Amino acid sequence: MLSEFDLIKHYFQRPGRAGRATLGIGDDCALLTPTPGMQTAISSDMLVEGRHFFAGEDPARLGHKALAVNLSDLAAMGARPVGFTLALALPAANRDWLAGFSQGLFALADAFDIELIGGDTTKGPLNICITVFGEVRPGQALRRGAAQAGDDIWISGTLGDARLALAGYRLELPQPLDAASLQAAAARMHTPSPRVALGLLLAQQGIAHAAIDISDGLVGDLGHILHASALGATLDLDALPAGPVLAAQDIALRRAYCAAGGDDYELCFTAPASARAAVLAAADSVATPVTRVGAIDAASGLRLVDAQGLPLQLKLDSFDHFTS
Ligand code: ADP
Ligand code: MG
Repeated sequence: MLSEFDLIKHYFQRPGRAGRATLGIGDDCALLTPTPGMQTAISSDMLVEGRHFFAGEDPARLGHKALAVNLSDLAAMGARPVGFTLALALPAANRDWLAGFSQGLFALADAFDIELIGGDTTKGPLNICITVFGEVRPGQALRRGAAQAGDDIWISGTLGDARLALAGYRLELPQPLDAASLQAAAARMHTPSPRVALGLLLAQQGIAHAAIDISDGLVGDLGHILHASALGATLDLDALPAGPVLAAQDIALRRAYCAAGGDDYELCFTAPASARAAVLAAADSVATPVTRVGAIDAASGLRLVDAQGLPLQLKLDSFDHFTS
């Protein structure tokens, strides 16, 4: 039988690797020494079995996703990742599961050069809660309330394939996806790529005003920027960059899943029209495509339009855990 402490030591403590922490796993607290003059950005995200992922999900993918969704929040703030903690409730100490989970987790951690610095482990229904720590120069964080009237609205990468995969799994599509398409779309759902490099540049170069990462669907998440900034927007639904699998679907599905699919983990950010060339250059330098999809308006409310600028009436709900 694997004890709690054996489990931590074997699967989560990597000897000699405290990363940026002065003291990592093994004491009552980790110790982080902040870079002088920097602010600490902190965010937690929890993944609950049956709510955020299906029972029996591949543990390596879960390890990746649990960290990726947290790094996405740092990206949306323009903060550089420093380290993270992991609070884990597990029904059983299963070695295969732990090996897979820690491999997926550390592969992504290593890609961003950050270390696991502490956490908690308990028996219970499978629940994975990560807290990330990052740093950002004072005044540079990309806050939701910083959009300005006249700003362009930009989206990184593509939208909707994660939602398409969910519909595919649930057999909700009018035409089922073939196996290869489902697999390609599902990769977006299982292994999101947090846009950390882009967020950092947008913040450090002072290019973007406001930003958010798209976890619950663009319309809802952009709504948070509009609410916090006390502004409105016009969004061209036909300009939204559909994921490659969704792009082959009919227009109604494309619009709906791009606008309100969720689980995209792309950035939605605003920047002045005078910064268009700077946005494109920054995006190009980190090999992340970006698309301009609308504009921030002084008038409140969100106006959805088609490629001709004509209003579209769509009932789009963003995801809410207590009403969905
Ligand atoms: P305490 O009882 O003081 O809260 P624990 O016995 O829970 O400490 O944990 C011992 C050490 O292992 C601590 O440094 C803690 O941060 C770390 N730890 C526990 N669970 C995890 C985990 N899932 N991932 C990383 N570190 C962990
Ligand atoms: Mg404890």
